[in-house]
Amino acid sequence: MKKIYLDNASTTPIRPEVIQEMTKVLSEDFGNPSSTHSFGRSAKVLIESVRKSIAKQLNATASEIIFTSCGTEANNWILRSAVKDLKVKRIITSKIEHHAVLHTVEMLQHEFGIQVDFVAIKPTGEIDFTDLVELLSDTKKTLVSLMHVNNEIGTVLNMEKAVRLCQAHNALFHTDTVQSVGKTEIDLQNCPVDFLVASAHKFHGPKGAGFAYVKKNSGLQPLFFGGEQEKGFRAGTEAVHQIVGMAKALELAYEHLEEERSHISELKNYMMERFEIEFPECKFNGEDTFYNILNVNLPLAEEKTAMILFNLDMKGIAVSRGSACQSGSVKPSHVLAEILDDEELKKPSLRISFSHYNTKEDVDALLDALKTL
Ligand code: PLP
Repeated sequence: MKKIYLDNASTTPIRPEVIQEMTKVLSEDFGNPSSTHSFGRSAKVLIESVRKSIAKQLNATASEIIFTSCGTEANNWILRSAVKDLKVKRIITSKIEHHAVLHTVEMLQHEFGIQVDFVAIKPTGEIDFTDLVELLSDTKKTLVSLMHVNNEIGTVLNMEKAVRLCQAHNALFHTDTVQSVGKTEIDLQNCPVDFLVASAHKFHGPKGAGFAYVKKNSGLQPLFFGGEQEKGFRAGTEAVHQIVGMAKALELAYEHLEEERSHISELKNYMMERFEIEFPECKFNGEDTFYNILNVNLPLAEEKTAMILFNLDMKGIAVSRGSACQSGSVKPSHVLAEILDDEELKKPSLRISFSHYNTKEDVDALLDALKTL
């Protein structure tokens, strides 16, 4: 059975060139970058050269890139240190953020008694900027945390606008760009965010590697202690092979961005057309969504919800459900709960997310399988 992977917002297959590069590092460059002998020095040289390469892709400087183990860690670090060390008294965020932000903010509210405000979300899934401006009029020391591309519905934040507003109101701006780094151009000189996070496994790199962009002189303090790695910002021996793999994946992502974006966009359009033909009453969740994510609300009975993923899985097709199943009961996703009404929430929603490895045949296989349900 040919397996079909349409869940690239969860994770992506590693590019063969990245595996090759990582294998080379694993076998040839095992030194500890903190050691002063030649083994250590070559590992250190590798890390510093790929730091430059990552910074260049985003138009940042190398010292502003700090390697972490994943996007979740980078989000936790930035948000926690902003409250603990930069004395942020209020976080403005949205209810459709990833849990790596939402749960961290909740914990910080509990621990430090900070104020948390949620900016309104329009039914289209977009941020209501009028509400953001209103929230920003309060002069408490504030950090705004809004994701660039939503991982469930693919809505896209106008990052330049968010940055401009934050600057005008003296607020710090953090953005979770886990779904967009490597998939769209990000120029940190034109769009001077304070903090941004990325994760290698979302752009065809390895799991267990991510990075934070932290603007120069931010004043952020470490989350971990016990080593001088990453200029003391992130203690712990660097996973050299992961970091090198991540940089290679990012380099290839940007090298092939135009052709891959156009291929994926075509697939997404084709899939939308097929959904409209086969399920005329379906509804796409979110408007003006990112080119690799399609979240669709299907006109199928409530009781079919639980079986859909199982049935697709039996046919070798991997997609994600727009809801989380907890101990047998289906709990709607916190993102969909913000934009859908009760009737729509009862119907099954699927998140389909593409990569350049997908083909029209994959789209047809999914639609044909759904038709038989
Ligand atoms: N933020 C977003 C928007 C994500 O989609 C994810 C992963 O699903 C994360 C954060 C977490 O990233 P990581 O898996 O690197 O911890």
